[in-house]
Amino acid sequence: MKPPKFEYFAPETLAEATALLAEHGDDAKILAGGQSLMPMLNMRMVRPQVLVDLNGVADLGGVEQHLGGGLTIGALTRQRELERSPVVREAAPVISAAMPYLGHVQIRNRGTIGGSLSHADPAAELPALCTALDAQFVLTSSSGERTVPARDFFVTDLTTALEAQEILTQVRIPPPVDGSSWGFYEVCRREGDFALAGAVCMVHLDASGTCQDARIILFGVGGAPVRADAGVGALIGTKPDAASLQKAADAVSQELEPPGDIHASAQYRKEVGGVVVRRALAQALEGRSQ
Ligand SMILES: Cc1cc2nc3c(=O)[nH]c(=O)nc-3n(C[C@H](O)[C@H](O)[C@H](O)COP(=O)(O)OP(=O)(O)OC[C@H]3O[C@@H](n4cnc5c(N)ncnc54)[C@H](O)[C@@H]3O)c2cc1C
Repeated sequence: MKPPKFEYFAPETLAEATALLAEHGDDAKILAGGQSLMPMLNMRMVRPQVLVDLNGVADLGGVEQHLGGGLTIGALTRQRELERSPVVREAAPVISAAMPYLGHVQIRNRGTIGGSLSHADPAAELPALCTALDAQFVLTSSSGERTVPARDFFVTDLTTALEAQEILTQVRIPPPVDGSSWGFYEVCRREGDFALAGAVCMVHLDASGTCQDARIILFGVGGAPVRADAGVGALIGTKPDAASLQKAADAVSQELEPPGDIHASAQYRKEVGGVVVRRALAQALEGRSQ
């Protein structure tokens, strides 16, 4: 299939891009890697009058590490760069570890971090990763810039806090907390498919091995990344072992109310939701330090 007719703009600066969005509002769509937008255009699921291509805009890509260890990632940074960047591997290794699960290498060569976050597929890895890492997103329009925490950005299926005239320009990841470790686990039918259920976790143990804090975020089991606070409650204050991981997984599974669809039933996702949490937590406790 071919896309419907649209007018194409290729701005070279952020100011030009935001001016185009201010002018065309809801009639415009941003084009980044095109890995979700082009199929949606070809299937006529979206019919924008105008495409604003960000690929020629200077300074929207790249990864930078700050003193203290935090990261700034430009929205146009390709998913493949996240996978291969030594800076990401050092400052946010859970992202490097998760990227090979995002589609296929050809998709990651073009797909961008900003495109994945803005598209907000409920089964996508990057929204859950950024929520687990407590990232902040910078949204820019012709009238200025605002910063939205990842936990408030994802509203539901393909819906975010972005306004029509805004561009997600930067992802900011805070420095890792000393003593924290991470885990990532997903289940899908075939390599490269979207996950049926997945989990990202960050665990902070003190010197005695007692869990002081944790964050468990699931994907593929709700309209947006799902915080598994019941699982966190089961871990805090314990010295996690196989029994407490199982308890946390059971608490998560019990609390989940996932949707069923052609890929998996709701009951399947509810059970597998607990399994992915237990396996991600087990990885964290193997000492994958953040
Ligand atoms: C076969 C296949 C398998 C895939 N498997 C997976 C998978 O397993 N996991 C996964 O997470 N993804 C998967 N994807 C999707 C892929 O990750 C896309 O790259 C991603 O969803 C969109 O990124 P993009 O840069 O290509 O954005 P585009 O397709 O260009 O844009 C997507 C949407 O975001 C908007 N947008 C893009 N950039 C910005 C921005 N900076 N600010 C505001 N709005 C913006 C666009 O207007 C559009 O609405 C798959 C895709 C395909 C085709």
